[in-house]
Amino acid sequence: MSILVLGGAGYIGSHTVYALKEKGEDVVIIDNLETGYKEAVHPEARFYEGDIRNRAFLDEVFEKETGIQAVIHFAANSQVGESMVDPLKYYDNNLCGTKVLLDAMVAHDIKHIVFSSTAATYGEPERIPILETDRTEPVNTYGETKLSMEKMFKWVGKAHGLTYVSLRYFNACGAHISGQIGEAHNPETHLIPLILQVPLGQREAIKIFGEDYGTKDGTCIRDYIHVTDLAQAHILAVQYLLDGKESNIFNLGNGIGFTVKEVVETARKVTGHPIPAVIEGRRAGDPAQLIASSEKAKTVLGWKPEHADLEEIIETAWKWHSTHPNGYGKED
Ligand code: UDP
Repeated sequence: MSILVLGGAGYIGSHTVYALKEKGEDVVIIDNLETGYKEAVHPEARFYEGDIRNRAFLDEVFEKETGIQAVIHFAANSQVGESMVDPLKYYDNNLCGTKVLLDAMVAHDIKHIVFSSTAATYGEPERIPILETDRTEPVNTYGETKLSMEKMFKWVGKAHGLTYVSLRYFNACGAHISGQIGEAHNPETHLIPLILQVPLGQREAIKIFGEDYGTKDGTCIRDYIHVTDLAQAHILAVQYLLDGKESNIFNLGNGIGFTVKEVVETARKVTGHPIPAVIEGRRAGDPAQLIASSEKAKTVLGWKPEHADLEEIIETAWKWHSTHPNGYGKED
């Protein structure tokens, strides 16, 4: 049996492939390397470079890799800001790409898919912690396309006997414990890697977006979840589907919120660097608080986050960034 990982050269995809290989699974990767890196491809996975919008390419892979029983789908664009200035890019890659993928899966009789969704499907939360049954009203194109993808799986699943698990991540962060792979976005927009650019000498100070939220120190609260814990949830979700269980949606977070200032303070402790911070205005589209209830993933999938401690999360990120200051770039 093989598992096909779409987007297996990206941040969460590559960590999931490493986790699958650590379990001895046979893994096939498809990635167009638009935002992924060849260096992040696990050396023992079979890698096909190409785009999921290309049906002929997908057919070729499915015809060659006849052992594929399940797909894990990370192949999407995921920057909130970009999705607001270039929404059609998101409709094209995220929705049209998934449409072509589903066509190919139906044609090749592949029945199971685990899919990376997002807390952005909820929009402004109606309560904290957020439950899977809460209102979904995205406030950006990225979240809207992910929600539409979930619905596409639902209706295609009903018609063609395909089952899916949608995993709604909160704030993915950290890096593989080995320090071999980690987070590398270009441009980088995420808080922890941006903070770590300060001790790396790549940025003078971290900007804090808004100090006037109704939170304990006025800065936004997020639920930071280690990428390796996310990876484990995908493996459990594949097993859940292979066991014949019904389609389902799960939140993935630690259920604990940290303010931006708390994250900066923890990074100071981990790196031993003073990391100056400057207060800026709010960033558009940022809800004050996002905290997951992941009770459902724990009870139904048996998921248990093992790297919930923020200091440990930042330590793994620091191990990666300090040894790869230019990500997968040539100056490493
Ligand atoms: N943030 C910040 N400065 C930065 C980047 C992010 O203050 O340079 C804040 C952002 O406003 C949010 C939190 O950090 O409240 C996490 O942002 P990130 O982009 O990492 O993830 P998001 O919550 O948008 O998925």
